[in-house]
Amino acid sequence: MKLPVIHIDQIPDGGLQKELVLDPAWLDEVLGSAELTTFPGVKAHASLRLDRDERNVFLSGIVEASARATCVACLEPVDLALRASLKLNLEPAVAKPGRPAHDEVELTRDELDVDVYADDLIDLGYWLREALLLEAPLHPRHDECPVKIEMPAQPRATVSVDPRLAPLARLMKKE
Ligand SMILES: [Zn+2]
Repeated sequence: MKLPVIHIDQIPDGGLQKELVLDPAWLDEVLGSAELTTFPGVKAHASLRLDRDERNVFLSGIVEASARATCVACLEPVDLALRASLKLNLEPAVAKPGRPAHDEVELTRDELDVDVYADDLIDLGYWLREALLLEAPLHPRHDECPVKIEMPAQPRATVSVDPRLAPLARLMKKE
């Protein structure tokens, strides 16, 4: 299932509200790129609003999805509730031949508020994907994981002191 692509002319003066149930196959593909997976009964939805001011579109709302990751501490599955809010000012792209509009702006957390759309079309799937991926934790772990992450201890035998630092090492041992 593809998520709706809204033509700018579909947005009435009073704005357009969209309630979307996100297709598991779509979600699986999105989450897969962040090393997350879906699971049976996964819930995912988006509540979006599009408002239009001349050619500028303000896209706002929330997207929520559950996802499963591998806890970095205990390596057991950990279920996550991803929730992202969207607040985007979309401006019509100035056409540059051979270059997709979405390449114009590199998205980061701070810059997620102004971007462009091309060909009069707002691809909701694109923005939902970006928003969800920004919420995906880099190091997922249980809130109260029984396993504490500890740095692997350096085996003492292999620690060798640079000969030039030897005097310093001797000094430190004395203290
Ligand atoms: Zn864990």
